[in-house]
Amino acid sequence: MTDAATSQVSLIGMDQDQLTEAVVAAGGKAFAGKQLAQWLYGKRVSDFAEMSNLGKELRSQLASRFSLLTSSVVAREESGEGTTKLGIRLVDGLIIESVLMRESDRLTACISTQAGCAMGCRFCASGQLGLKRHLTAGEILEQFFHLTAVVRQESPDGWLTNVVVMGMGEPLHNFDGLMGALTILNADWGFRFGARRVTVSSVGLPDRIRQLAEQGYQFNLAISLHATTDEQRTALIPTNVASGLKKILEAARYYFETTNREVTFEYTLVGAANDTEADAHRLAALLFEFPRANVNLIPMNPVEGSGLKEPTDQSVDQFAAILQDAGVNVHVRRKRGRRVQAACGQLRLRLEAK
Ligand code: SF4
Repeated sequence: MTDAATSQVSLIGMDQDQLTEAVVAAGGKAFAGKQLAQWLYGKRVSDFAEMSNLGKELRSQLASRFSLLTSSVVAREESGEGTTKLGIRLVDGLIIESVLMRESDRLTACISTQAGCAMGCRFCASGQLGLKRHLTAGEILEQFFHLTAVVRQESPDGWLTNVVVMGMGEPLHNFDGLMGALTILNADWGFRFGARRVTVSSVGLPDRIRQLAEQGYQFNLAISLHATTDEQRTALIPTNVASGLKKILEAARYYFETTNREVTFEYTLVGAANDTEADAHRLAALLFEFPRANVNLIPMNPVEGSGLKEPTDQSVDQFAAILQDAGVNVHVRRKRGRRVQAACGQLRLRLEAK
């Protein structure tokens, strides 16, 4: 990536009409817009030279007017549990994180939608530094190029199979960037990624959950609940003052009824804060009337300086058992989940400290 390239407009993030306009502006025929979309999104090619069915002159004109990748990988960490985390530097020097999770035949991309985050969750490294800025649709999509490159180092024909939008940032806070990226991800002329293989994970912004429900897609929705009373939740997630559990659960139900997609509730267990028997019973009661409730229990990953404790294994098991007895579908995400949740900014903190 050259300085000249970074000052240009990137083609990644453009829809098919915009790509066609770009091709015409570069002196090509309109039909080449489809070919360009196929190279970019269908094949995830990030070098004009590889776009062999575009004429040489057109490729040269495109390269002089537009850039492709504007971000670059600056760090890579392997967890040893099938997880690879990338530190990615954006065009303005900010750093975000993306994660590849390998699980049997699934290759899941966990992507970020913001640099930093405004939500301020106390158990999260990103929440400690505040929001730097929203990512553009193109910057969200560029993470797929970087993660696909990791997959293809291992298998030249490998493809990502699933997407979870739960890296740095609150996706629904960057609604335009998120929808711009998801539209291209899902489109026939784009990545052709089925909506049911995409999960949007939100801290719970009720109006935006309803807005997402009305977009006409069948994305999976995961809501980070983390508490069973508003008082407790506001202590962990300051934005809960405005949203409140009741409105979030109503919006989640609206999402289910509008899209017919199940909603998953994420619950980070924090030692002696929200992991008691009483919490488990309250959570079961809150979800009692919710159709087909799924709960992911995530034992907290310690964040330095947060003052929060990890739960004991015993409290995790007991919590899960109470929910199961109440008929809730429970999944405990132990080590992998804890590491993946660390997609929320811990690598970035280390890189920025350097
Ligand atoms: S947990 Fe998610 S919503 Fe909360 S501060 Fe971290 S990135 Fe933001």
